[in-house]
Amino acid sequence: MEYSQPDARTMRGRGKRDNRGPRSLVAEMIELVGFDADDTLWRSQDYFDAAQAAYEAVIGRYVDIGDVRVHEQLLETERRNIALYGYGAKGMTLSMLETAIAVTGERISAADLHRILQLGRDVLQHPVELLPGIREAVAAVAREFRIVLITKGDLFHQERKVRDSGLGELFHRIEIVSEKDPPTYARLFEEFGVPAERFAMIGNSMRSDIEPVVRLGGYGVHMPYATTWALEREHGLPDGHPRVAQVSHGSEILGALRRWVGR
Ligand SMILES: [Mg+2]
Repeated sequence: MEYSQPDARTMRGRGKRDNRGPRSLVAEMIELVGFDADDTLWRSQDYFDAAQAAYEAVIGRYVDIGDVRVHEQLLETERRNIALYGYGAKGMTLSMLETAIAVTGERISAADLHRILQLGRDVLQHPVELLPGIREAVAAVAREFRIVLITKGDLFHQERKVRDSGLGELFHRIEIVSEKDPPTYARLFEEFGVPAERFAMIGNSMRSDIEPVVRLGGYGVHMPYATTWALEREHGLPDGHPRVAQVSHGSEILGALRRWVGR
């Protein structure tokens, strides 16, 4: 397992594809497959949602949490702070503290601020729980394609989750990035030495995993999770895009990729 270290060895072809005799043009279409991590390989959003519900219960002692503006204010603070803190639980914790102080007019007690701080720590420390069948699904894809992991969020948190997941060894590279937008993917393709047209990304977020890759000319396998963070729901891809496949379970990923490469 490597963390963002360029290594030509890992980026060369290997395995089954090399033994299939003459390759057709179609079969060359996808040579590298990327996986998202949070809510694609393991549960994540559930913990953030639970922390937010507990946060609202804390500030409910001071303000009317039935007031939709209280709910929206945290989201607004998070949106504003992404450029400062990046994605992940630490940024969310700071945004919860900031919003709690603001919406209570600075009346919130230190004990309640401490409770909110603890909510963020709990998110950082929850055990990794793989989604059903995902270990087998990733291993099956890895037997036919070279695979990489591309995730965003707190560096320490993501590194720990990759380690605890036990999946790290399946990936040629682990890329922990601060934003998943077209310039980031374009930079990664350059480093991988793979054109966008030969790359497919698998993930739960249309905005972060699918749209930027498809806009660059690549493929996307969208596997939605039960809940999606409000800021990840916004995207501009039309329904039924020919280079986007929808799957509902990890076991369907390999089939979606095979259809594109004509296997
Ligand atoms: Mg995700």
